[in-house]
Amino acid sequence: MKLCIIGSGYVGLVTGACFAEVGHQVICVDNDQRKVDMLIAGEIPIYEPLLEGMVHKNVGAKRLSFTNSVEKGVDESEVIFIAVPTPPQPDGSVDLSYIEQAAREIAVVLKDYRVIVDKSTVPVKTGEKVAATIRRYNRAGAAFDVVSNPEFLREGCAVGDLMNPDRIVIGSSNEQATALMKKIYEPFMAPILVTDISSAELIKHAANSFLALKISYINMVSRICEASGADIENVADGIGADKRIGRNFLNAGIGYGGSCFPKDIAAFIAISEHLGEPFELLKEVQRINRTQCDRFIAKIREALWVLKDKKIAIWGLTFKPDTDDVRSSVAIDIVNQLVAEGAIVRAYDPKGMEKSQQMGLVPGVGFASSPLDAVQDAEALVIATEWKEFSNIGFQELKALMHTPLIFDGRNLLDPLVARQFGFTYYSIGRA
Ligand code: NAD
Repeated sequence: MKLCIIGSGYVGLVTGACFAEVGHQVICVDNDQRKVDMLIAGEIPIYEPLLEGMVHKNVGAKRLSFTNSVEKGVDESEVIFIAVPTPPQPDGSVDLSYIEQAAREIAVVLKDYRVIVDKSTVPVKTGEKVAATIRRYNRAGAAFDVVSNPEFLREGCAVGDLMNPDRIVIGSSNEQATALMKKIYEPFMAPILVTDISSAELIKHAANSFLALKISYINMVSRICEASGADIENVADGIGADKRIGRNFLNAGIGYGGSCFPKDIAAFIAISEHLGEPFELLKEVQRINRTQCDRFIAKIREALWVLKDKKIAIWGLTFKPDTDDVRSSVAIDIVNQLVAEGAIVRAYDPKGMEKSQQMGLVPGVGFASSPLDAVQDAEALVIATEWKEFSNIGFQELKALMHTPLIFDGRNLLDPLVARQFGFTYYSIGRA
């Protein structure tokens, strides 16, 4: 099938590559000319495992191309996906201006029947607004249908998630559009759930909020572990072994971050209030998440007493491992807090340093060339992102390089017993 994706970021580019991989003809559109130039030159603007090879392969096979022209994409495709940002506004509600702009841009060039699919995460009822916008700006009076098809990929394993999804949600009120959507997803051989548009939109916000709730739940339990001497890993294993609950998203740590959870939970709260059914439970989820990071910094402060002029190494800047995405990363919040209190911070991240620097997220921080380079002469090491390579570093080597053998492990990455055997003072989350 001939498909167009508007917005070639984490979602749009990976979706485009995976659609091309299963044989569709895909045009990815972006209004960031620099990004389009990079993609045409064969450079991938984001780091995502397996993505680069897949993009190159499908560009080579002439199934995947890039442009800044919405008109070209709409003219040459049967189905148009919108995958533009939906960032938060200061009050937590969603800034829908990118969606509105994309809808308008499609409308002015729409000549024949097309299915317009919203893949961005949007508040319930957005589909109706998109349809109204297209009707308003489409002078040709072309027929179209709007469909909601929320995306559930996780950065760091986005290609795998897209190729093998747990389910595909199609929110549609038109049989022709539903049939086209089913045809697009047929090669993925995944369960397809067809719903009305509002339910599909709601599924995405409700799913992310539930996952965030699981994280805050286990983080709160971790505090009770700390207060009672129990061990959060044992407790999480015991809870997670129950099939009704599951072990995923029960890892205690410094809280969730990233470009999705914080904004989606805030958005769901805002929508619930707008609809007159305030979702107070989610406010507690937010509160626990916020204070989880504060408590971690308090532990560092407690152990080091005065942070001013203390040399602190940070491992990890991205919001999770296997990505270069540093948007709303808790690691970045921690770094900035330490710098604000006068610490001398040297950070290392396998993929996140360039973007942190480009986006000016961590002013006043030195960047190291390796995890071991970061800890040279450090008075403490803070682990803020659970990159696998950090867990392979030998304690002996670490101790030889550090000024003081002191570790704050915000992701429970290391083994407390082994750390202590090697003479480290070791703090983690919810473990004695
Ligand atoms: P992103 O910022 O990485 O990418 C968005 C792209 O859209 C950018 O390249 C931007 O230049 C482009 N763009 C903006 N307006 C445009 C326009 N009018 N025409 C053409 N291009 C335009 O964002 P993302 O992380 O891919 O997120 C996109 C949406 O998907 C959001 O709603 C997000 O909540 C949702 N989502 C994200 C993830 C994730 O893990 N990143 C997962 C599921 C859903």
